[in-house]
Order: sequence, then structure tokens, then C-alpha cells
Amino acid sequence: MKKYDYLIVGAGLFGATFAYEAKKRGKKCLVIDKRNHIGGNIYCESVEGINVHKYGAHIFHTSNKEVWDYVNQFCEFNNYINSPVAIYKDELYNLPFNMNTFSKMWGIKTPKEAKAIINEQIKELNITEPKNLEEQALSLVGTDVYEKLIKGYTEKQWQRDCKDLPAFIIKRLPLRFTYDNNYFNDRYQGIPIGGYNQIIEKMLDGIEVRLNTDYFELESKDEIAEKIVFTGQIDRFFDYKLGVLEYRSVRFENEILDIENYQGNAVVNYTEREVPYTRVIEHKHFEFGTQPKTVISKEYSSEWKIGDEPYYPVNNDKNNDLYKKYEKLAEEAKGVIFGGRLGGYKYYDMDKVIISALDTVKKEFSND
Ligand code: FAD
Ligand code: UDP
Repeated sequence: MKKYDYLIVGAGLFGATFAYEAKKRGKKCLVIDKRNHIGGNIYCESVEGINVHKYGAHIFHTSNKEVWDYVNQFCEFNNYINSPVAIYKDELYNLPFNMNTFSKMWGIKTPKEAKAIINEQIKELNITEPKNLEEQALSLVGTDVYEKLIKGYTEKQWQRDCKDLPAFIIKRLPLRFTYDNNYFNDRYQGIPIGGYNQIIEKMLDGIEVRLNTDYFELESKDEIAEKIVFTGQIDRFFDYKLGVLEYRSVRFENEILDIENYQGNAVVNYTEREVPYTRVIEHKHFEFGTQPKTVISKEYSSEWKIGDEPYYPVNNDKNNDLYKKYEKLAEEAKGVIFGGRLGGYKYYDMDKVIISALDTVKKEFSND
């Protein structure tokens, strides 16, 4: 008999959801994380009384009522609605692309006028089936919006030409011909009042957690638990033996400013190529903070190499094919369950991570 039923590698949202559900079913779990805190990428650090989203701005949004009810067991959400603004040179526009954006861009008032301008701008381009991000963006919003609000930002963010990026990336953004600055179309949205940490703390309440503990440095790892739930990088688990999966990384430059309100909004995108960062986050505005100081983070996109923090999986054909080969090894690995953004090599938002963890739980405990 081993001491634990499950060794859960990673105290992020996937690992914590699995641990919480396993404990409810009477299972004994050990959760480890190589970082010095729980929460994975949703971790918030308190600076000057402000919850700073240490690994990038996180806004919870979902259309899935089950997931919404599930997270609401662990915290109360505020009524934050993400409405970023974009700055291009000295011009300021509302996002996502909507009547406020078009009105500012062209001095017009009605959807009919906006559509007429867009159609006029794209009629000579003859794009029928958009083959890449540039063609997709042009065919949706025309040349002015593309040149000012998309091209520079996207090329900074992905460090690739818009012609070399898949069309679907830009379709993540809503396009509306109404005066509505809500960045998401989801039914439910908000930020946990008091930050994200309480969700993970409550999920892991009463469960043994060891921080600063890297799975790959554990001795006799197979003797610890009956099964392993692994939410780290799947290729690293198999010693990169089929090749290395690529990620895009992000670097944050944080500053504490001795003023109450720096930019008047949580998210401001800088869409011109010449500004080196993509956006500036002012964390207090996620929770309508009134602290005397403020904390901002400038985000710089960066190439990833082994040892860096892996942020965004690069789900192009090459990497997806390689992932499929690792997935096959994972299916054959006895007693190991892979999950989460890194274990599944998927660009999951938080709601999708919870759905995926609950699905894993259902499968794992279907006979109990
Ligand atoms: P993670 O949070 O990455 O947790 C994995 C954990 O495993 C980490 O703590 C890591 O330290 C640990 N680990 C890895 N390897 C080992 C090892 N060998 N030994 C021990 N521990 C290990 N989602 C939204 O819904 N809305 C947003 O606005 C949003 N914004 C985002 C912005 C950024 C910049 C990023 C990167 C992601 C964003 N997401 C957002 C996605 C969200 O962060 C993820 O869906 C979620 O946090 C993933 O949870 P996870 O448990 O799968 O992974
Ligand atoms: N995008 C853009 N201009 C902006 C914001 C977004 O061109 O001001 C594009 C960019 O290509 C980005 C995509 O829209 O990758 C999706 O935006 P989202 O905010 O969802 O990106 P994320 O940071 O979540 O990848």
C-alpha cells in the first residue's frame, strides 16, 4: 500500500480542482508545486494592498452555467466587465471593434455608415476565403482598423507577420455594430472579490501541499502514490524524447507608482509597432481599487526556450502533430493522468480548465 492515492503535480487550477474532487470522494492526495506558492498562473501577489496578477491579467468569463456555479462556491465575483482601450500614436479607441471604435475612427454615427466604409475599403481586395490573419482582419474591419489597431499589435505579440498567422486568432475578438465595449460575448464575467488565491486555497483546504518541490527531482517517485496527475509540460515528462513543443513567453515589467490612478482603465493596448510593449495593465482597476498608490505591468512578448516560463502553447500544425505523438505515449503511460494547459498543450481559458478537470474526475471515479 502506497501512502497516497494521488500525487498531483502542479497546484494550478487543474491540479487543485482534481485534488478537491478526489478528497470529496475520500481519496488521499499529495499536491506538489515547484513554485513557492499555490495557484499556478492565476496566482495574485498583494502589493500596496493591490492584487497583482503576477502571471498576466486574468478575467474570468464563461457561458457555461455549471462552471460559473462551480467557481462561485469558492468566491464571490464582482461585476467587472473587460473593456480595454487601444492607443495608436496619439489616438485612443475603444475595443473590441464596435460602433464606438468606428465612430471615433471615421466621425460617423450609424451601423449603416460604418458598414459602407468597411465595404468601400475592402472591395478592391477581392478576399473571398481569408487564408491568413491579415486577410481575415481586412475582410472583417477594413484597412484603417487593420493598419491602426491590428497589424502592429499582432506582429509584436506573435513576433510573426500577419500573413504568416492563422485566421482564427483574430476571430477570438467580438466584432459588433452596436455601441458595446464588452470584450467578451460570454454570459458570465467578473473578477473574484479579493483576488484568485482564495479559490485555490479553499480547494486545497485540508490537503497536503509541498511547495518548492519539482517532480523531476523527487526520489522514488513511483513509490509515493497509486496514481499521478501531471499538469506540467508533457514533453518534459517524456524527457523531450520526440522533440520540444514550442511556447510563446511573456515578460512583465512591474512598477509601483506614487499616484492613485495612472491610466483610468485596467487594460490599455499599445497597437503601434514602435512601442515595444503590447499592453499596460493597471491591476487595481480589476477590483475598483481606491488605494493611494497603483501598480502597473508592461507586457513584452518574448520567444520561449527551455527553462523559461511557458505561457502560450503555439498550436500550429507542427506542434500539434508532435503533441499527438506525446499524447499517444501518455495514453500508454500506466497510472499517469495528464491535464491542464501544459499537460494537454492547449490554449485553455480558466473555464475550460475547470471543465476539463471535472471531465477527468468523472472518468476517473466512474466506478466509485
Ligand atoms: P498552470 O496554472 O500553469 O499550473 C501548472 C502548475 O504546475 C504550475 O504552478 C507549475 O509551477 C506546476 N509545475 C509544472 N511543472 C512542474 C514540475 N515538474 N514539478 C512541480 N510542479 C510543476 N484564462 C482566462 O480564463 N481568462 C484570462 O483572462 C486569461 N488570461 C491569461 C493570461 C496569460 C498571460 C496566460 C498565460 C494565461 C491566461 N489565461 C486566462 C489562462 C489561465 O491562466 C489557465 O487556463 C489556467 O491558469 C491553467 O491552469 P493549469 O492548472 O492548467 O496550469
Ligand atoms: N488583437 C489586435 N489588437 C488588439 C487586441 C487584439 O490585433 O488591440 C488581436 C491579436 O492578434 C490577438 C488577437 O486579437 O492575438 C486575440 O486577442 P486576445 O486579447 O484574445 O489575445 P490574448 O492575449 O488572449 O492572446
